[in-house]
Amino acid sequence: MKSQARVVVIGGGVVGCSVLYHLTKAGWKDVVLIERDRLTSGSTWHAAGGFHTLNGDPNVAKLQGYTINLYNELEKISGESCGLHRSGGLILADTPERLEWLKMAHARARYLGLETEMMSMAEAKKLHPLLEEKYFVGAMLDAADGNLDPNGTTNAYAKSARIGGAEIYQNCRVTDLQPRKDGTWDVITVNGNIHAEHVVNCGGLWAREVGRMVGIELPVLAMEHMYLVTEDMPDVVAYNKERGRELPHIIDFKSEIYMRQERNGIVLGTYERSCVPWQPRQTPWDFGQELLPPDLDRIAPNLELGYKHFPALANAGIKRIINGPFTFSPDGNPLVGPVPGLRNFWSACAVMAGFSQGGGVGLALSQWMVHGDPGFDVWAMDVARFGDWATRSYTNEKVRENYARRFSIRFPNEELPAARPHQTTALYDIMIAQGAVMGDSWGLETPLWFAPKGTEPKDVVSFHRSNDFPHVKAEVLATRNGVGVTEIANFAKYRFSGAGAEAFLSHLMTNKMPKTGRLILTPMLNPQGKLIGDFTIAKAADESFYMWGSSQAQKYHMRWFEQHLPADGSVKIERFDMNLVGLSIAGPQSRAVLEQLTDEDVSNKGLKFMDHRAMDIANVPALINRVTYTGDLGYEIWVAPEYQRRLYQEIMRAGKKFGIVNFGMRALLSMRLEKNFPTWFRELRPIYGGFEGGLDRFIGRDAAMEEKRTGGKLRRVSMIVDASDADVLGDEPIFHKGKVVGWVTSGGYAHYVDKSLAQGYVPVELAADTVQGAFEIEIIGENRKATIILDPLFDPEGKKMRS
Ligand SMILES: Cc1cc2nc3c(=O)[nH]c(=O)nc-3n(C[C@H](O)[C@H](O)[C@H](O)COP(=O)(O)OP(=O)(O)OC[C@H]3O[C@@H](n4cnc5c(N)ncnc54)[C@H](O)[C@@H]3O)c2cc1C
Repeated sequence: MKSQARVVVIGGGVVGCSVLYHLTKAGWKDVVLIERDRLTSGSTWHAAGGFHTLNGDPNVAKLQGYTINLYNELEKISGESCGLHRSGGLILADTPERLEWLKMAHARARYLGLETEMMSMAEAKKLHPLLEEKYFVGAMLDAADGNLDPNGTTNAYAKSARIGGAEIYQNCRVTDLQPRKDGTWDVITVNGNIHAEHVVNCGGLWAREVGRMVGIELPVLAMEHMYLVTEDMPDVVAYNKERGRELPHIIDFKSEIYMRQERNGIVLGTYERSCVPWQPRQTPWDFGQELLPPDLDRIAPNLELGYKHFPALANAGIKRIINGPFTFSPDGNPLVGPVPGLRNFWSACAVMAGFSQGGGVGLALSQWMVHGDPGFDVWAMDVARFGDWATRSYTNEKVRENYARRFSIRFPNEELPAARPHQTTALYDIMIAQGAVMGDSWGLETPLWFAPKGTEPKDVVSFHRSNDFPHVKAEVLATRNGVGVTEIANFAKYRFSGAGAEAFLSHLMTNKMPKTGRLILTPMLNPQGKLIGDFTIAKAADESFYMWGSSQAQKYHMRWFEQHLPADGSVKIERFDMNLVGLSIAGPQSRAVLEQLTDEDVSNKGLKFMDHRAMDIANVPALINRVTYTGDLGYEIWVAPEYQRRLYQEIMRAGKKFGIVNFGMRALLSMRLEKNFPTWFRELRPIYGGFEGGLDRFIGRDAAMEEKRTGGKLRRVSMIVDASDADVLGDEPIFHKGKVVGWVTSGGYAHYVDKSLAQGYVPVELAADTVQGAFEIEIIGENRKATIILDPLFDPEGKKMRS
């Protein structure tokens, strides 16, 4: 065994082998994989081997497409068979809502370049005669679906990696990981030690335990999962003979089963509601290639329905039942990337669909390690997307919810209940008492909208406009015409201090830092010139800056800041988390409210647009920013949490005579739409280019300047959509002259201007085509005319926020 390597990958399941192969492909040859037992001996060996491209996140769907296309290349390089069966797959909807969901998935597939087709049940029945069509209302065919041999595929990755120069050590458990001062690692194994520059945790069923070796608790949990294999079935044999092909895969939403042909029988698996976690505290190190005892009672309700939907199954004998564990994160997507707070320690675990996602995970991680950037938008699987609030017991509740909902559709206005309320501010009970309908924002309960007295504070889940519509409208109108208050505790907040703070921020951000007492808005770019952040920065004093940004991205951003911190200790970063909480007041009467709460000069001269001050408000020490995301006159007020309750009550008391209202996140998002303001993770993501800032040498400047010179390829646009009872949600295709040319990033109903609006990206040469109805957007299977607007519909000159 080597004593030194550039990378040690821990774990020889399909994911570890993929990471190893992709590292060699990216040019790193001095890489080793260490496996506790034999390759595949975690969850990989007993997988059902199915693969598909369907995923709620389009960027993950793209990476799944990459994985599925990789298998032919692997077979060629390694000479090993992956045992591929490219049979295609049908997803069956039993209700109009599930059919709408499929139509939206089909629309998304159009701009992702994936091959899907909507079908009537008569057409589906022709493809899969075993199904009973009367139980369904429609289907989608995904041509990329199929299945493979898990062992053959893992060996194909491993052999390809070896051909590329990698070494693999089996029967060699890693027992400890010790960091050195220079950021490298001593990897302690039962067969000796290896000194490595980088370590990758591909520990699968033991990823949590490998994380504990370096002092972290990864939000990952294994669940038991069962599938059964039937005896040979005459209907299957007859189908193969008659058609000369295999039966397509099936996903049946209603019975929550998946199904595919296996030799002359069928493999049938379930995601049952009464699911069971496996080893919730600690995975035993001596767990070998073992199966868990089957429990047919647990999946009996699914089987009963499945047999009704596919009557031939009821007569088939069961040859084998497999019950094995595999891992999930709280939202079901993998945990990939550099682990925040550690140097040269990488994660590629919680991959619940190793044969759909393993290739994409290996590609993204290897590019990240070799080039410093994953090369795609991998936010949906970034290990940094969960905060410290994702504890082991929280993870347990969320993973069980996620598993049980594997084949459930999620509506855009649906908030999932498990492990909630988790974090709350001091205003939680007050808001609930006023009819707040709460949503989860990075683990924090945040008001979405307020139900007036006599209205049930509950969302009716739908893809269409729903019961909140008139109430959100009322909140918008009352704010735009008078004054409203909303809680903004969920923003991320930081302070940068020290002699090097200004130079550090100038290096990271594209815009020049403000003068003392002023604010700026600024994007942050990566070296490729892509957007990785969008912040509000205040200069409080010479060596002190406050910064506000996206709540969800705070660990992601902290990782970036820490990676770039100067070694001389001249910059200190604090992340406030819930130690600084806020309220925003907005609307033409907001200054009048503020004037009641302070004797400071808050006139338009005393506190100008984009000013920042520390002052007492309602006797409370506060930071105040004259800025609001509604695009109106407005203020953000930030205080320590122990003052938030008083501040809120005093704002409400002072605002009473001006008719102050509460408004929630949905009203805020509606108001930002009519100002054409973008949002982080929708319009602003690492797949989009930045734009010119100041003239300092900030990261990504060269790429951004080049983009400015060439004009880039895409443009973010706002559009009025000719919608009726459903608005865009994001990820719909944008058509121009019958061709898909772009995609929607977000949108909804802009209540004040009374229009349905969308934001999205189109090719730069089409971005000025303002001809009425020149574009179309597909909303739930129907194409709706859309027209580009160049200026915001609300206050296009920005006079209101400056007045
Ligand atoms: C019943 C069942 C059916 C499934 N069906 C499908 C399917 O149809 N399609 C699909 O895509 N996925 C399926 N899966 C999921 C799939 O198996 C997983 O996504 C995949 O196996 C994850 O691979 P991995 O490499 O991350 O983890 P694992 O396979 O668990 O590999 C981790 C490896 O790390 C090693 N290891 C851990 N700690 C150490 C250490 N300290 N030192 C050295 N080595 C260590 C382990 O021995 C193990 O070999 C199924 C799973 C089950 C249980």
